[in-house]
Amino acid sequence: MATVLERLRGPDPVFSVEFFPPRSDDEERLLWRTIRELEPLDPAYVSVTYGAGGTRRDRTIRTTGRVATETTLLPVAHLTAVDHSVAELRNVIGWYASVGVRNILAIRGDPPGDINGDWVPHPHGLTYAEDLVRLVRELGDFCVGVAASPYGHPRSPDLATDTEHLVRKLRAGADFAIAQLFFDASDFLRLRDRVADRGCDAVLVPGVMPLTTVRTFTKAVELAGVPAPARVVSRLMRWEDDPSSFRAAGIDLATELCADLLAESVPSLHFYTLNRSKATREVVSRLGLVRARV
Ligand SMILES: Cc1cc2nc3c(=O)[nH]c(=O)nc-3n(C[C@H](O)[C@H](O)[C@H](O)COP(=O)(O)OP(=O)(O)OC[C@H]3O[C@@H](n4cnc5c(N)ncnc54)[C@H](O)[C@@H]3O)c2cc1C
Repeated sequence: MATVLERLRGPDPVFSVEFFPPRSDDEERLLWRTIRELEPLDPAYVSVTYGAGGTRRDRTIRTTGRVATETTLLPVAHLTAVDHSVAELRNVIGWYASVGVRNILAIRGDPPGDINGDWVPHPHGLTYAEDLVRLVRELGDFCVGVAASPYGHPRSPDLATDTEHLVRKLRAGADFAIAQLFFDASDFLRLRDRVADRGCDAVLVPGVMPLTTVRTFTKAVELAGVPAPARVVSRLMRWEDDPSSFRAAGIDLATELCADLLAESVPSLHFYTLNRSKATREVVSRLGLVRARV
């Protein structure tokens, strides 16, 4: 099975997609319809987030395994250190390896129940993503990714410290990083410059979510951790009461953002799909990314 790094080092820019573990059988059916709709577009890889607790974790593991064994797609398994002992993490990593998953996104995670609460590591667990990167590396020949925050992680005192921590986890053995949501291409490019200025040449991939509804817009602001710029608010919120015009403006904005990033030689775009395919399909078609890969 290929690695993410191999897919990102091709001659043409590519795209990838992210799903979350389904919470019910209905959601599982919807997710599989989405996966089948995206499969012919040949995304570079598909990643499945790691749920916050028991059942959702089982579904993450099951979904990632099915992507590995039942589709032509390259799976990336997310894994967090939340509520896991090192022994449990070893088991999950071993299971991923046994179904042929070679790519893991090593994430620290948030305190369950209250993401702003104090982070308390499992008594026999890990404290930072950096530790998880080392563990995954120790256990096999995995390609490892980590998370990056263009505006700085909310728990970091300042951008410089946050960048130091990102570079530490990349140097601990990660091959690439996927960025949290941001609103202007320059926000991502500044992150890329900060990392490069520290002599680190790991691949950084921007995360993009087409803002097709007021709800996704609110979610994006929450995930980015900063207010959206006035330019974005005014393009979208004038259509607050007109869902189809809102959607059209959101697709336009996402396409423009992606085009700006590609113009700056970004090798890949990572789409937060919310388990739907239509918006991603529209944006990548408009960018010519599908045609480029045929
Ligand atoms: C692409 C992406 C995918 C994600 N997938 C998931 C998922 O599947 N499941 C999920 O629950 N959440 C997911 N998240 C959210 C993630 O769990 C949160 O952002 C979490 O708060 C931090 O995880 P991290 O891996 O960035 O942590 P870390 O890199 O460990 O950073 C956490 C905090 O500690 C600081 N820090 C890091 N290293 C050190 C150090 N050595 N010393 C001191 N301080 C340090 C950092 O600056 C930061 O403030 C994802 C986020 C992104 C961007």
